[in-house]
Amino acid sequence: MDLAVQLHTEPEYKDETMTVYQIPLIGKPLAAESMLPQSPGASAQGENSPKDDPEPGSPKAVRQSLEEDKEKESPRKTGDTEKRGDRHPDLVMAFLCKIHPKKGKFLAAKAQELGLPVGTPAIFPIITALKNGESVTFEGRELLPEELCTPTDPGPVFIVLECPHEGFVDAVCENDTFRRYQEGLPENQVALVIHMTPESVLQDSRYQQWLERFGRGTQHLVLNENSAAVHNPRSYKIQTQLNLIHPEIFPLLTSYQSKEEEAACSVPIVRGECLLKYHFRPQQEWQRDAVTVCDHDAFVSEALDLPDFQDRVKECKESLPAVPGNVDAYPEIVFLGTGSAIPMKIRNVSSTLVNTSSTRSLLLDCGEGTFGQLCRHYGEQVDQVLCNIAAVFVSHMHTDHHSGLLNILMERRRALASLGQVFSPLFLVAPEQIMPWLHEYHNHCEEILGDIKMITSQSLVKGCENIKPKAKWFVSSLLESYDLAEFQTCEVQHCKNAFACSMVHKSGWKVVYSGDTMPCMALVRMGKNATLLIHEATLEDGMEKEAIEKTHSTTSQAIQIGMKMNAEFIMLNHFSQRYAKIPLFSEDFSEKVGIAFDHMRVRFGDFPVIPKLIPPLKALFADDIVEMEERKEKRELRLLKEASIVLDKLVNGENEEAPSQKRKQAKNHQEVPSKKLKTVN
Ligand SMILES: [Zn+2]
Ligand SMILES: [Zn+2]
Repeated sequence: MDLAVQLHTEPEYKDETMTVYQIPLIGKPLAAESMLPQSPGASAQGENSPKDDPEPGSPKAVRQSLEEDKEKESPRKTGDTEKRGDRHPDLVMAFLCKIHPKKGKFLAAKAQELGLPVGTPAIFPIITALKNGESVTFEGRELLPEELCTPTDPGPVFIVLECPHEGFVDAVCENDTFRRYQEGLPENQVALVIHMTPESVLQDSRYQQWLERFGRGTQHLVLNENSAAVHNPRSYKIQTQLNLIHPEIFPLLTSYQSKEEEAACSVPIVRGECLLKYHFRPQQEWQRDAVTVCDHDAFVSEALDLPDFQDRVKECKESLPAVPGNVDAYPEIVFLGTGSAIPMKIRNVSSTLVNTSSTRSLLLDCGEGTFGQLCRHYGEQVDQVLCNIAAVFVSHMHTDHHSGLLNILMERRRALASLGQVFSPLFLVAPEQIMPWLHEYHNHCEEILGDIKMITSQSLVKGCENIKPKAKWFVSSLLESYDLAEFQTCEVQHCKNAFACSMVHKSGWKVVYSGDTMPCMALVRMGKNATLLIHEATLEDGMEKEAIEKTHSTTSQAIQIGMKMNAEFIMLNHFSQRYAKIPLFSEDFSEKVGIAFDHMRVRFGDFPVIPKLIPPLKALFADDIVEMEERKEKRELRLLKEASIVLDKLVNGENEEAPSQKRKQAKNHQEVPSKKLKTVN
């Protein structure tokens, strides 16, 4: 990407809308206990830590890294006297934005009254001069701008301010630029201050006094952990409706409420909500008409009104045993993201939580937004769940499988501290190729290397001899912490360094996860007799060609892999986002196959139940299924037509030209879907 980077040391930025002044704020570090993990680093040294990093996460390390920055030459930035800092935890940037003044409107009617040449080219220089605030002499008469133009709108000012913790409060309160805008001068009137400020800072009396100094005319918008807004009503809607089918397998979503008490402010503040707007012109005002709302009852009645839905649900319920026998049984699988490539409103990208006991959880892949999904699923309990996560498996380096990891690491660290639990890094089982990415983030953004104990997926392939003693020790403590007898990986057929994994519990169960792959015999061997196979099914049947091109599996291919490994049950996931709500069912569906939805919760005792959910699911998504089947028919017709053209030409002996034409046609058709979703997944 070609990004224009403007350093904070450079002068203000200006475009056709506004001028942005950069305001660096230098803070003081907080006491170490409150901002850093409680006992980090004990097992963090070694292959995943930079050599000279004493204790990642420790104040000493922060200082040292800052000092290194000062010493380090930056060869890429020649002629740049100001060293590009790597990570500066003591520096934040605030932005003061001045929208350009708007010239007054020319009062044409009044000009006409005064006998000016309105409607002729002679008027244009007069208008320009008057709008620029200059007086004009016309036929010996002096015309003043204020008699022929509405007044100039000076252009509102707004401030975007991040004050990450109490250590920055003085820097904010004592800043001279801000002070100039608090003196009550009309041209320096601030319309809006956007505070990205935690509640603890908002409660600080120094900060409150600073807020007051802006005066009554300034609005204050606060964005922090107490901004509780639903941004994805569609996901709540689908979950509310699925919940009518089976309340345990499709539990209702909750919302995360911060435990931080809301600060009492002497100045009125507005809490951020999704799609809340503030207008600077023509009137300065809040607009709430797009703010999202979740109407649970409306979602329910919409589903109940669907043809056949209630009947199918009733039949399904009657076919199930009255008392579910496995409510507290483990393992419990929670699907957090079941879509591929890009996050969509109702299917997030890959992530599956395996709860092996009430106190231990493991993540299989960790796409962007995994933390948000955990919050929506667990609400208040999310911190406990984060503390339970002792390991994350990342199947391969496509972003829909790993880019949520950083946030999980940060939030897990916060959760451990907030629940007063001893900090311990988590086991990261991933291709070794993940390390450059983690190092890059660690060196330039936030310290994270102290949060992981790396076990490369390569070292867990059966028969791998090349395993370092420390990794060996990590593996045995990983097994111990989950009561596992075995944790294995195998290379699969997708991109380079893509892995599936298999875990066998001491009590005998075996869960196998495919990651992304085409049908793969190594996976069949590793997964032999699995209790549960979670397999990707990116594409529908009939799209085998696309599946090969994109190195994914179709629904039936995934099911066949499960049959070959003699899996007791197969859950399909990683659906192409073209199947937004539900994938197409294939003829290979049996009493051993289920399809995953985001927030679906499955225990082994649910295996007989899951296939019985299909008739009510089909009733709920009837419209979508019809639409997808129509699309499928169209595609099949098109393929048939193509084949018959080729056949005709062969029969008529025109095959000299045919190959190139055929290639061209085939190419065109391939490009259609890939244009829509031009991403690797
Ligand atoms: Zn993927
Ligand atoms: Zn992939």
